[in-house]
Amino acid sequence: MMALTGKVAVVTGGGSGIGRAISFRLARDGASVAVWDLNGPAAQETVAMILDAGGRAIACEADAASREGIAGALSRTRAEFGPVTILVNNAGVTGRVPFLEMTEEAWDRVIRINLKGPFLCSQAVIPDMLAAGWGRVVNISSSSTQMGVGQMAHYVASKGGVNGFTKALAMEYAGQGVTVNTIPPGYIDTPMLRGTVQNMETSVANSPMRRAGRPEDIAGACAYLVSDDASYVTGQMISVNGGRYLM
Ligand code: NAD
Repeated sequence: MMALTGKVAVVTGGGSGIGRAISFRLARDGASVAVWDLNGPAAQETVAMILDAGGRAIACEADAASREGIAGALSRTRAEFGPVTILVNNAGVTGRVPFLEMTEEAWDRVIRINLKGPFLCSQAVIPDMLAAGWGRVVNISSSSTQMGVGQMAHYVASKGGVNGFTKALAMEYAGQGVTVNTIPPGYIDTPMLRGTVQNMETSVANSPMRRAGRPEDIAGACAYLVSDDASYVTGQMISVNGGRYLM
């Protein structure tokens, strides 16, 4: 039997990059995976990859930062697979703008999707975990919260919020079989990174491992955190960044 056989997982933002690799990996480990993404066709593509490999998955086109979108996606997921006991809060957006030019709208959008989204998704799904007496929440934050990055104040603030949110939830549910951890990725080759980094080659050449991270590098850490091997691990941050930042 595979590690996650019989488990139902939700991966937000599973239509691209890191979320796609996590969805694929959890399905490979035996979970039934609901891929929630604002971009429906992208979520479908992830599902097609999983089905091709013999896994179980459905796509839900949904805004993972809206209560209504989440309710719809969750009821479809439960109807198809049953209660959800693994939640990966991965959906996120970024942006680069000098601080004094940062509009209130840009600030609100990034905080809404990156920080309020995990709040709403967790609040919707954790009751299933409590009922099962077993649950896993993995929040994808960012190494920018460890290093600081200019012109991304909204993004870094939102992800710093996710780090704190993780610790608070971990404490609240530690006695009920539900663990909550965060992975702050550093420099992973995805459409998001390619959209924000100016000189990829120089940046890679100056990095300790001389390579960008792969989405699969994050998926591996996530697969560990949602497994039974990690049942005594909660409130932790597992930095997957190729040695770019040492805690
Ligand atoms: P990506 O842009 O390739 O993928 C993000 C996915 O999230 C997209 O499919 C997008 O449609 C979806 N999405 C965006 N807003 C959504 C919403 N409101 N509801 C549902 N889906 C939504 O990005 P990625 O690089 O794979 O990033 C995944 C996560 O990892 C993000 O939270 C990002 O901040 C974080 N991260 C990435 C890196 C990196 O180096 N790539 C570094 C640090 C943190």
